Amino acid sequence: MFYQPETVAEALDLKARLGLSARFLAGGTDLVVMMKKGRLTLEDVIDLGKLHELAETRDEGETHFVGALCSHRTLESWPIRVLADAARQVGGPQIRNRGTIGGNVGTASPAGDVSVALLALDAAIELVSARGSRSMPLRDFFQGVGRTAIAPDELIAGFRFRKPAMSAFYKNGKRSSVAISVICAGVSLDPDGFPSIAVGSVAPTPLRLLSTEAFLRQRGLDPETIAEAGRLASEEVRPITDHRASAEYRRAIAGIAVTRLLTQLTQGGAHVVHA
Ligand SMILES: Cc1cc2nc3c(=O)[nH]c(=O)nc-3n(C[C@H](O)[C@H](O)[C@H](O)COP(=O)(O)OP(=O)(O)OC[C@H]3O[C@@H](n4cnc5c(N)ncnc54)[C@H](O)[C@@H]3O)c2cc1C
Repeated sequence: MFYQPETVAEALDLKARLGLSARFLAGGTDLVVMMKKGRLTLEDVIDLGKLHELAETRDEGETHFVGALCSHRTLESWPIRVLADAARQVGGPQIRNRGTIGGNVGTASPAGDVSVALLALDAAIELVSARGSRSMPLRDFFQGVGRTAIAPDELIAGFRFRKPAMSAFYKNGKRSSVAISVICAGVSLDPDGFPSIAVGSVAPTPLRLLSTEAFLRQRGLDPETIAEAGRLASEEVRPITDHRASAEYRRAIAGIAVTRLLTQLTQGGAHVVHA
């Protein structure tokens, strides 16, 4: 069955009743592709298209809230550089018009560009169900390729993160557009100057580099520690070899990306935006 609820409460009641036999449909740029390729057969689809409140964004002072149905197109013009640059490099214009931030996280691809940007912002994910709501760090939400901590009756409502002082994003793909990331990386500095670092396509999930971050928190950000952070980053990632790139290549590029992004943020440059 195809359901089109008019309210969030109606959507949650449906999901509570249908459970795992149903999936939410946002932009459909992952879900419909999987169904068409025969990788996913569903009894029920719950279309979120009429739930416009889920596309809202809010400036809450020290934090931002971004609704799950916010499209990549909308995020492209955001003042948060890591998010805007990640959104701008998702697919082509049609994909960015339809694809959403909640769908990118819901798919739980290791290569999800916007998922990596949200991780680099140390975002929390807000989940709602007919039972109530809960919030958890996004880094705990991803559990494996296509696997997350979402319960069968839950909906992703959106994401909340502290406004960074600066942030930047890097994507390496086989082509300059409409290319899944061979590797992508995001870095933000919080208002106290502490970094959050995330890398995509180097592990079964988008990955926060917590050990590299801890080193920088202890030692500070100068050219020597940034160079060492790049080396640590390439040790911390856990890439595989596949048809897009070898594990060795991904490991090397991860280190270079982290060094470059941190250098851009600390020395100023084209990729630095004070958000
Ligand atoms: C040609 C092409 C190019 C692409 N290029 C890129 C790229 O460069 N980078 C990249 O990261 N991705 C890319 N993608 C993948 C895709 O476009 C993105 O992941 C997109 O953000 C998915 O969002 P959506 O709204 O279309 O999700 P959907 O397909 O609607 O949903 C995806 C999954 O998330 C679940 N879901 C969606 N919304 C919610 C919610 N609110 N609550 C709970 N579960 C939810 C669905 O049930 C489904 O399991 C590409 C896809 C195509 C077809």
